[in-house]
Amino acid sequence: MNRDGLCEVLLQVPRVLVLGGTTEGIELAARLAARSDLVTISSLAGRVGQPRLPDGLVRIGGFGGLDGLLSYLEKEKIAVVIDATHPFAARISRNAEIACSRLGLPFVGLLRPAWTKSEKDIWHDVPDVLSAAQFVDKAEARVFLSIGRQELHIFSDCKDAWYLIRAIDAPAERLPLHHKIVLQRGPFDLERELQLLRDHSIDFVVSKNSGGAATYTKIEAARLLGIPVVMINRPAKHTLSSVASVEEAITALDDVLRLHWRD
Ligand code: NAP
Repeated sequence: MNRDGLCEVLLQVPRVLVLGGTTEGIELAARLAARSDLVTISSLAGRVGQPRLPDGLVRIGGFGGLDGLLSYLEKEKIAVVIDATHPFAARISRNAEIACSRLGLPFVGLLRPAWTKSEKDIWHDVPDVLSAAQFVDKAEARVFLSIGRQELHIFSDCKDAWYLIRAIDAPAERLPLHHKIVLQRGPFDLERELQLLRDHSIDFVVSKNSGGAATYTKIEAARLLGIPVVMINRPAKHTLSSVASVEEAITALDDVLRLHWRD
């Protein structure tokens, strides 16, 4: 089949945009790319040097704000948007909701549940990254900072505590005065997390309340070692109701396709 013929076939089935950058985005793409009744395009922001690539079609990079996203959705004839971005990625979700509402496109928000505190956890809840930095930057404190790369600069004025910083790629931003960097990509197993916290005599773990299994072992390890966790609460993300799992997102997608997509 020539290129034009292929394009025609691809436009005869609904085109689903999965906003990803998460384990759920990868799982969704794997499930949807195996189907012949739709075309799946995953979108990644391009923050990680060598991202795990989802199955199916993939595009990488920001859209250029709300206007850019609106143009992309129209140009690519997207039929449905599934927002499977990280619970802390609030801007892209807001733009996606607004763009879908303006274009009358169905929107499925997938938001994994937050972690909840068990009796043995010692958590200090904070509303944002700055509050976490202000809380832990105490002389002689040894802090495990596992919040990704993008907001590390918020710790750049910290001069008192020592920080073990974990990231996937080497951070380019300004960092706290006393630190060591470990480059690792999850998922992380519990034994290694226990070892890491013990080896560096960690007093505090700073974590976003990301939810999910891939990075939960650091929370378990902190609990087992009696180490307090400074838990950064989630920002507001979806204004529309969302689903909590890949399975539910696929059900919601199928409901939407039955309602909105006719041959
Ligand atoms: P954000 O603050 O909501 O978005 C900032 C900008 O990045 C957006 O306005 C958009 O640029 C672009 N963007 C974000 N997600 C995108 C996607 N999936 N495809 C294309 N462009 C995207 O998001 P963020 O917190 O920077 O997170 C960026 C990405 O990393 C997300 O995809 C998220 O799933 C993933 N991630 C984030 C975290 C976290 O802690 N924030 C953790 C793990 C993974 P334009 O305005 O130019 O369209």
